[in-house]
Amino acid sequence: MADVIDQAQEFDAINLAQGLAAQQVLAAMTARPKSVGHCLNTNCEEPFNNSERLFCNPSCEREYTRMTQPHSRRLH
Ligand SMILES: [Zn+2]
Repeated sequence: MADVIDQAQEFDAINLAQGLAAQQVLAAMTARPKSVGHCLNTNCEEPFNNSERLFCNPSCEREYTRMTQPHSRRLH
């Protein structure tokens, strides 16, 4: 019986690991990007005096989002 229980625990551990990995992927996709002192749109990269700023305007943000998060979410 010990073998069966060991296997079951191992299976739980794998499920847990996969669940955590999925959460991390989701977090990475929804996390706000870090400010780097210039516009995050690599086609723009306008420097900012305000280091908390991420984009110079909404269209730069849209472009950045399009580049970093392709249309379909491929989790599987
Ligand atoms: Zn920009």
